Amino acid sequence: ATFGTLSDRLTETFRNLRTKGKLSASDVDGTVREIRRALLDADVALPVVKDFTAKVRERALGDEVNKALNPAQQVVQIVNEELIAILGGEQRRLEFAKNPPTVIMLAGLQGSGKTTFAGKLAKQLQGEGHTPLLVAADLQRPNAVTQLTVVAEQAGATIFAPEPGNGVGDPVRVARDGVEHARRQQHDIVIIDTAGRLGVDAELMKQAADIRKAVDPDEVLFVIDAMIGQDAVNTAKAFQDGVDFTGVVLSKLDGDARGGAALSVASITGRPIMFASTGERLEDLEPFHPDRMASRILDLGDILTLIEQAQQAFDEAEALKVAEKLATETFTLEDFLEQMQQLKKMGSMKKMLGMLPGMGQMKQQLEDFDEREIDRTEAIIRSMTPGERRNPKVLNGSRRLRIARGSGMTVTDVNQLVQRFEQAAKMMKTVARGGTPNIPGMGPM
Ligand code: GDP
Repeated sequence: ATFGTLSDRLTETFRNLRTKGKLSASDVDGTVREIRRALLDADVALPVVKDFTAKVRERALGDEVNKALNPAQQVVQIVNEELIAILGGEQRRLEFAKNPPTVIMLAGLQGSGKTTFAGKLAKQLQGEGHTPLLVAADLQRPNAVTQLTVVAEQAGATIFAPEPGNGVGDPVRVARDGVEHARRQQHDIVIIDTAGRLGVDAELMKQAADIRKAVDPDEVLFVIDAMIGQDAVNTAKAFQDGVDFTGVVLSKLDGDARGGAALSVASITGRPIMFASTGERLEDLEPFHPDRMASRILDLGDILTLIEQAQQAFDEAEALKVAEKLATETFTLEDFLEQMQQLKKMGSMKKMLGMLPGMGQMKQQLEDFDEREIDRTEAIIRSMTPGERRNPKVLNGSRRLRIARGSGMTVTDVNQLVQRFEQAAKMMKTVARGGTPNIPGMGPM
């Protein structure tokens, strides 16, 4: 996953440091050297790396570390703070216009994920009660309008596109007409998808700049593929000079990118990263929080994002009901099934588990986690009678055989599920009582 190697190397560096009491100047230099190498290997731009390591070094040699009770911990804290700084510091949200519609223009290379992001953003805004209009001003790629139409449909948003078969069309006019249309139809937000090229070129820049001039957007979001590595800096600079933008969207952060783009773009351009796109589904969009991202990189966990996602997927009344059942020990396999369906709504288990602190050290288990496990578990529970789901104690050999046949699994699978359920119920009971479940490998940093 993104930042995987960087994260591993930084945590490894700090682990070595942790065995030391006081830190000598050469301990600090060694640590800074390793951080520097790790960042360069992750494709972070050289000027950013230089600046970052100089700051860390200076602070690590200063009094705040010297006087700290736990110097190594203090160094981690410094690296964390400096990481947050290069990721842009504070989180920046979309700014809405005082007089709607708010116009949001997207720019970026072809394939960067603009169209996908347009759909994700529309869906998210729609969920918040807005009425976004998607405008297809990418008339370069033959498929672009169709693709945006599909995305709009999935997001349940309205699209404004030039009539098909209407010749080449003028993207600037489409953009302007789109905003006009939104005003008339009382859409409070307009999202304009623009054309990209595979590489930066003058014509593309001019078109984007012309659209910007014509519609005077409230936000211009530059979408950049996190996987493009060292090219990120040049691409970002070219767009900043050619069109300029108010914020950055990092796409494909779910991929195997080394993360350099993320760590370079904000500090090179001075523009905040506002969103992280983390998958192909429309739900896979997160607001970008520099502090949470830094925590993820340093494997300090990202509990806040996890909780927010849980809150989006779970209904509060539902959660109370479950807590009540756990406390009174009436939690059954039927509830378990329901919970699993809720979990599926939250998206990938792997992604969620990866946000827990210390999970970096459990990488293999994470990799081995099979998302289909949930489906198999569901199949088994569905093959049980309501009575069996409520009281698994009645599950004797012949019942287990019947369930195995019914679900296409083996008796061993059924046995394992029942056993796992009992363990999970026990663990959840501990949590419900306010305790900490004992998950192996999750020791404190
Ligand atoms: P555009 O040319 O800038 O409009 O890019 P698209 O939105 O068409 O995206 C290009 C490709 O990247 C498509 O295959 C998308 O499904 C894929 N894609 C976009 N965003 C993400 C993301 O966050 N994660 C992953 N894995 N794929 C993405």
